[in-house]
Amino acid sequence: MRSIKDLKIEGKRVFIRCDFNVPQDEFGNITDDRRIRSALQTIRYCIDRDCKVILASHFGRPKGVGFEEEYSLSAVAKRLNTLLKIKNNFYLAKDVVGEDAMEKAASLEGGDVLLLENLRFEAGETKDDAALAKALASMADVYINDAFGACHRKHASIYAITEHFDADHKAAGFLMSKEINFFQKVIDNPVRPFVAVVGGSKVSGKLQALVNLIQKVDKVIIGGGMAFTFLKAQGYEIGKSLVEDDLIEEAKTIMEEAKVRGVKFYLPVDIVVAHEFSEHATMKFLPAQEIPADWMGLDVGPASSRLFREVLNDAQTIIWNGPMGVYEMDKFSKGSILMSHNIAQSHATTIVGGGDTADVAQRAGDVEEMTFVSTGGGASLELIEGKVLPGIEALK
Ligand code: AMP
Repeated sequence: MRSIKDLKIEGKRVFIRCDFNVPQDEFGNITDDRRIRSALQTIRYCIDRDCKVILASHFGRPKGVGFEEEYSLSAVAKRLNTLLKIKNNFYLAKDVVGEDAMEKAASLEGGDVLLLENLRFEAGETKDDAALAKALASMADVYINDAFGACHRKHASIYAITEHFDADHKAAGFLMSKEINFFQKVIDNPVRPFVAVVGGSKVSGKLQALVNLIQKVDKVIIGGGMAFTFLKAQGYEIGKSLVEDDLIEEAKTIMEEAKVRGVKFYLPVDIVVAHEFSEHATMKFLPAQEIPADWMGLDVGPASSRLFREVLNDAQTIIWNGPMGVYEMDKFSKGSILMSHNIAQSHATTIVGGGDTADVAQRAGDVEEMTFVSTGGGASLELIEGKVLPGIEALK
């Protein structure tokens, strides 16, 4: 795969696919701008070479029916502009491939930067639509993919767009190259014991990842919303907790597979439960076997945190993806914060992946103690599983 350094980009129109999908609080403030800061190196490299720079990213999950204020990249644009501190012009287009974007892209001078609006305002983005890819490609001479966090998705700005650029006009940005090189080392030669800590809410996506991870790691710790699918698979009452009933069989298979392979598999032994999904809800912690039918589990309990610390004690490599609970609410953040501390204090090579997980490490004040904080959650998991990511394949 080529790097941006291998291309002649001086003075050219460069389209950079970035991943500016940053976490925000309820007031719209960006809580962790790591993904924006990580993109600066590639953007500055292009500005320094008098390129006309066009940036594109997705943000959240809009409906794909045009502009939606809630999912606008305006907060990202402001932060990016502040961080870049460029003397040239910086524009945010009102659309993706509409009149405004096309007009602004055409009028760029060398060193100017244009950020397109949220790619997912166009329904074609997530469908890898050829017409959208063509319209995006028409804005530029060179395509750079620096969106490591979105590389596992076969989307128009990641995959179909690359057909419009030959090998001398497409490459990976600095962030993308750094992430891939790091993960390659872990995949080729993980120092063992190798422990995967997996949490968060997206059960469906991560169960598949677990099937493959089981073959690579020595221990797995499960927390967050996805733990309840496993607890239910073991026959426990999980009340109103997050669960995907149609994946219970798969959860059983994963636990069986772990047993057969000798992979140690850990679930929370106690749970912080509340009677509603709210910061103001009454909460208590109970053994995992005793969740009342009308309560829901929103964090792992203190006994689980202690158990997980023991499990991590002898680890030499730890990959962490997904919070242990609803960390956005203080009341249910303790399991995630303690997990962050436990990982940060270990002597292992520690890899944190995913926007939310990096956000937890940031809130816990542990970022500096981690070996590597990846901007990609799903993408980093899939790389470790050994999958070929569409975004990487398309650049080869
Ligand atoms: P993911 O995007 O899959 O990494 O999931 C991250 C989200 O999972 C965060 O927004 C958490 O609030 C959420 N989460 C973690 N634990 C739970 C839980 N027990 N119930 C509901 N949501 C959860």
